[in-house]
Amino acid sequence: MTESVECAVIGAGVVGLAVARALARAGREVVVLEAADCIGSHTSSRNSEVIHAGIYYPAGSLKARMCVAGRRALYAYCADRGVAYNNCGKLIVACAEEEKAGLEKIRAQALANGVADLEWMEPRAVRQLEPEVACVGALLSPSTGIVDSHGLMLAFQGDAENRGAMIAFLSPVAGGRVSDGGVELAVGGAVPMRLNARVVVNSAGNDAPVVAGSLDGFPRRHVPKRYFCKGNYFTLSGLKPPFRRLIYPAPEKAGLGVHVTIDLAGQARFGPDVEWTETWNYGVDPERARSFYAAIRRYWPGLPEGALAPGYSGMRPKLRAPGEPAGDFVIQGPNEHGVKGLVNLFGIESPGLTAALAIADYVAETLGP
Ligand SMILES: Cc1cc2nc3c(=O)[nH]c(=O)nc-3n(C[C@H](O)[C@H](O)[C@H](O)COP(=O)(O)OP(=O)(O)OC[C@H]3O[C@@H](n4cnc5c(N)ncnc54)[C@H](O)[C@@H]3O)c2cc1C
Repeated sequence: MTESVECAVIGAGVVGLAVARALARAGREVVVLEAADCIGSHTSSRNSEVIHAGIYYPAGSLKARMCVAGRRALYAYCADRGVAYNNCGKLIVACAEEEKAGLEKIRAQALANGVADLEWMEPRAVRQLEPEVACVGALLSPSTGIVDSHGLMLAFQGDAENRGAMIAFLSPVAGGRVSDGGVELAVGGAVPMRLNARVVVNSAGNDAPVVAGSLDGFPRRHVPKRYFCKGNYFTLSGLKPPFRRLIYPAPEKAGLGVHVTIDLAGQARFGPDVEWTETWNYGVDPERARSFYAAIRRYWPGLPEGALAPGYSGMRPKLRAPGEPAGDFVIQGPNEHGVKGLVNLFGIESPGLTAALAIADYVAETLGP
């Protein structure tokens, strides 16, 4: 069976759904092809749910621009659509004198990114805000917050469907070929079919390089290698978290350090840490608790023994190998790879949740009218 559609979006994570929404609102016919039986079953449900301010990324990078624009759009969207969020703010703490210089650098980077609201706090001021936090100084980021990521995805899905978009679940894209009129996709599932689409947005998260590599006629040199970088979380069992804000240590190489975030139900979770793996698996090794206790007690010495329980994990869609500097989002349109109507979204790691609305606008613009 062969069908045709104007636009096919591959993947119903937060980014794919935001893209489907933007395309449907622009009056396009949209089908979302999702391998799983529900929305957001991978990275979009396995993250910290933080609305990032846009502090850390190199000035002018897609991450910096889209985080700042996406954060503004996201707060407005959540308020407008009744998606639960809390603009609770966060503290980035220096636990030793030598870490203060790192925080100064972060503040300068934030300014360069247009985030001008970071405030330096002496330990006494920190104690007034968060009495259990031990530090030699901190930066307060008032524009950081948290969001109900599932509520957000449901809202995107609702908006897209109200404009006529359709989501086909259990519809894995197994391959395809570039054709004169766009891309012909081979869709698996109970009733395999071929789908001709004039426009294809490959938003398959960790699998986006695999999907691009499965399209006959797509230049192989534009398919990046993917790496697996797991982030594990531990939860606080039997204790109410003593914090009202998010608490972050100074960032480390492949992540932002083992931080504490509070979810909208008031529960604390710690993480994610950084675990490079050979395979994609979501198991959390309870043994990792040891390094979590050590990392957390640097800024929360009162963490009681036995309070941490293994939580969940997420897989960062990395395009850089261990030890290499973090890369930018890669949004590859026809100008980059030469295939008409195809946009690949590679390496959409953090802050992809925050940036989803801005990424969607960018993709819609890339594709033109
Ligand atoms: C540990 C961790 C913490 C994070 N914390 C934050 C945070 O606090 N704030 C923030 O802004 N960002 C955060 N992020 C980043 C954010 O979660 C991601 O950028 C975002 O969820 C990516 O969404 P996505 O739609 O691109 O990918 P995904 O959510 O992975 O969705 C991809 C979808 O494609 C589907 N798919 C895959 N292959 C196929 C195929 N062949 N055919 C059809 N469908 C397919 C999958 O089933 C999946 O539903 C974090 C990420 C990680 C890993």
